[in-house]
Amino acid sequence: MGLISKRKPKHYAVGVKEIIEMDSKSIEGRFGVAEDGGCASIFVGSVTKGAQGGGFLYTNKESISLGCVANISAAMSGDIRVDEFMEDFKSSSAIKNLIEGGKSVEYSARTIPEFDLTHMPRLYGDRMLLLGDSACLSMNIGYAVRGMDSAIASGFYAAETATRAVKSRNFSKDSLSAYESALRGSFVLGDMRRFGRAQKFLENKRIYEYYPALANRFLKRLFSFASTPKEGVREIAGDEILRGGLMKILMDMWRAWRWL
Ligand SMILES: Cc1cc2nc3c(=O)[nH]c(=O)nc-3n(C[C@H](O)[C@H](O)[C@H](O)COP(=O)(O)OP(=O)(O)OC[C@H]3O[C@@H](n4cnc5c(N)ncnc54)[C@H](O)[C@@H]3O)c2cc1C
Repeated sequence: MGLISKRKPKHYAVGVKEIIEMDSKSIEGRFGVAEDGGCASIFVGSVTKGAQGGGFLYTNKESISLGCVANISAAMSGDIRVDEFMEDFKSSSAIKNLIEGGKSVEYSARTIPEFDLTHMPRLYGDRMLLLGDSACLSMNIGYAVRGMDSAIASGFYAAETATRAVKSRNFSKDSLSAYESALRGSFVLGDMRRFGRAQKFLENKRIYEYYPALANRFLKRLFSFASTPKEGVREIAGDEILRGGLMKILMDMWRAWRWL
């Protein structure tokens, strides 16, 4: 219908999510949370074997949601299967014991649009409104995937616009353009504008390979004790930072500052 221009693999990620049923007492004990509390973790680095993406785990009252997300273009160039990430993630030392004895009750996979405002589809046409993920209103901002809030809000504004269209018996694109104006005035397109540039930042492979490895090396050196005199924190940090190239790290920090 000509609503969207040609899409590329880099505009989508694939997410895999499993729901693992577990009694609330085991969840409280394993995650150290109170009855009305919860735990959410995100993972970056080995979970996607260095490809753009990450893993997540969060507790529900009687289940755990566990999953991973990988950008399609990154997965294609690394010749990687996302379901294999998931199996390796589940059997990794970080996760294995946390889910042991749980029962897998749901397993699903779907694409997640990762668009910025410049690649968004047209949101309305004659007799037509696009909302939620079909309108590419979800966002990956690195530390979170958002989309449910935009899907609900766009549903609300679409319903308002449709109600007015029914009353005035006018379903033309001019009449339905009020939908886009409403989204522009709300957090939906406001946050897309603010965080849309995060996509550029998240294409940086160093986030998924270099920085997780740097954090591991730094912590290993920090907590290793031998018969030789211990290095100071400043020495370890300086050495690791210089090894990775100070200019590159400063550039990455600048990009994070600009785009996040
Ligand atoms: C792994 C993963 C983790 C995520 N984590 C978060 C998170 O933590 N927070 C957050 O806010 N968002 C998250 N999201 C994004 C969020 O799930 C989506 O943005 C949101 O579900 C979009 O809602 P929607 O109603 O537009 O689409 P959907 O939820 O995809 O609903 C579309 C429905 O239409 C049905 N359908 C499709 N085609 C047809 C057809 N031809 N006929 C009839 N029915 C059809 C589908 O089966 C589906 O039920 C995550 C997504 C994934 C994949």
